Amino acid sequence: PTGQPQADCLFCKIVAGEIPATVVAETATTLAFRDVSPQAPTHVLVVPRSHHENAAAVAEAEPGVVADLFTTARAVAEAEGLGGDYRTVFNTGAGAGQTVFHAHLHVLGGRPLNWPPG
Ligand code: 5GP
Ligand code: ZN
Repeated sequence: PTGQPQADCLFCKIVAGEIPATVVAETATTLAFRDVSPQAPTHVLVVPRSHHENAAAVAEAEPGVVADLFTTARAVAEAEGLGGDYRTVFNTGAGAGQTVFHAHLHVLGGRPLNWPPG
């Protein structure tokens, strides 16, 4: 069920300390660690400690944790020296590029992020 640890979930294993990750911030409800394939000088994933398959499922089950993900993202950006300049992204669904079905907020920064261009 949503919220419970999933035995086959990569990010549940990282939360449990069963798979190593470079942790950069943590709170009672969230864990932030570096993406293994960074797409920017700072590329950190902020995950809820509880298992939900995507952001909407977190919002439905534990709305306050969605806020926690964003406040952790801000703390990461500050710790990384990004000031107020960073991008946060939730991919939802395989067709949109989601590959890990444990909700995670991408925090990207440290290079120009001009989108859409122009
Ligand atoms: P998604 O494509 O689902 O939005 O994002 C999943 C992210 O997890 C990708 O950016 C990918 O590089 C990252 N990732 C996949 N496996 C691992 C891993 O074992 N450790 C870490 N730190 N990141 C991972
Ligand atoms: Zn999980």
